[in-house]
Amino acid sequence: MPQSIRLYIKRSTVSDLNCLKEGDHHFIQINQNKNPYKLLMYNDNPTLDHLVKTIDPMRQGEVLDFPGHQEKGNGKLFYIESFGCQMNFSDSEIVAAVLHGAGYRSTRNMEEADLILVNTCSIREKAEDTVRKRLYIYNKVKSSKPGTLIGVLGCMAERMKKNLLEEEKLVDLVVGPDAYRDMPKLLESAEDGHRAINVQLSREETYADISPVRLDSNGVAAFISIMRGCDNMCSFCVVPFTRGRERSRDPFSIVAEARDLFDTGYREITLLGQNVDSYHWKNPETGEEVNFAQLLRMCADVNPDLRVRFSTSHPKDMTDEVLYAMAEKENICNYIHLPIQSGSNRILELMRRGYTREWYMGRIHAIRRIIPECAISSDIIAGFCTETEADHQETLDIIRQAQYSMSYMFYYSERPNTYAQRNLKDDVSLEIKKRRLSEIIALQNSISRQLNQSDIGKTYKVLIEGDSKKSAEDFKGRNSQNKMIIFPKNPGLKPGDYVYVEVLDATSATLKGRITQNPQS
Ligand code: SF4
Repeated sequence: MPQSIRLYIKRSTVSDLNCLKEGDHHFIQINQNKNPYKLLMYNDNPTLDHLVKTIDPMRQGEVLDFPGHQEKGNGKLFYIESFGCQMNFSDSEIVAAVLHGAGYRSTRNMEEADLILVNTCSIREKAEDTVRKRLYIYNKVKSSKPGTLIGVLGCMAERMKKNLLEEEKLVDLVVGPDAYRDMPKLLESAEDGHRAINVQLSREETYADISPVRLDSNGVAAFISIMRGCDNMCSFCVVPFTRGRERSRDPFSIVAEARDLFDTGYREITLLGQNVDSYHWKNPETGEEVNFAQLLRMCADVNPDLRVRFSTSHPKDMTDEVLYAMAEKENICNYIHLPIQSGSNRILELMRRGYTREWYMGRIHAIRRIIPECAISSDIIAGFCTETEADHQETLDIIRQAQYSMSYMFYYSERPNTYAQRNLKDDVSLEIKKRRLSEIIALQNSISRQLNQSDIGKTYKVLIEGDSKKSAEDFKGRNSQNKMIIFPKNPGLKPGDYVYVEVLDATSATLKGRITQNPQS
């Protein structure tokens, strides 16, 4: 085992979860708290790719808790709510690990917490209002329990720090996404009544040596953050400002995390980054370089029964080398999320996406050639600045050509401090934006339905994720193409098992089937 893996296990597992000893694996049970406020949140219009797509409405406001560790530590409890994309949820797992290391224990009960945290998201227009509303609620709790500390973490920390900390005095602690390691020091400072703030963005921080405490509730699929930040500067996007410059994490720590997850029963990992195709790590000692295709192979080699997914690809950076790795390794899933955003070259240029529709279609053809069974999905923005009817028709045309299995579709809404907000006119009326979006959705739905119906009669290898939402008699699981399949349970099977399922029926969103023993039937 390479030296760096040994170091990773030793440092992260032992120091961040001091209930464990060296060599232990994590056995952590998570309670999913369905927050009563979640339905009021984030019903506005997102405009970002790959961040948006990972937002799960059911998880907004989710509270992180690790029962069984309450008796240890410094006797203090923290409560954390998370909003936004999967990246933010992953960050909450890192924060939890740092706080555990500092002696804090978690609670799902805000009223008994010594520290109340909200991990924020900047990508939606009303996110700031939502967080502010939550802060008023936290402050009510604080008024009946003086001494409670309140902190804002994540993407909005930088932008809101002045208002929240100095003017409205709603929070005691403001911590940006690259400063979570600093939290124990900041907490001491806040406890002493001092200003506790660190929103410094870093060029190096990847939290490679911190072993996140898993928030996932199904124990089957987990996310692994492989890089942070983004260097792309798409004109509609806040990420380069809120999460800073791109940096890639040590591949050995990623593989060690994947192995650790496999050993504790997980059967699927999703490698997470704003632009995974630009993953690049150089060993400071040997000069050895690792790119994304190599990292994929390393993760796939952990175990053939560990599925590997990734999100998100960028059309300008996705290489054939990645596609060949996917074609070669059965456990790298045949699914690529490749956001187009617009089918018009003029709009793509205004969006500063770095590719043309011709280049994009070239990438689609490469995927179809190298991995014929691969499903492709996309993100599409309707009504970006200056978009004409002709531009819109080009978007509809590329959706037809690309034949996406599904898409995340939004109409454009301006985000503060972005290039588009400063330099372009948001001049398409809301009415037109909504009409174009509904045309895009109708087209995508009909393509998804057709593609799903063409799956009827095929048999797929499916990883069981748990009970179907509608019936405890049925399992739900995904095939390699990331399509959800519902099928009746067979005795003896459990989440984390692989089964072969023949597709019997299909809607635009879901497949239905039955377990079959024969992969060829
Ligand atoms: S700037 Fe980066 S994170 Fe934002 S949309 Fe572009 S590629 Fe994605």
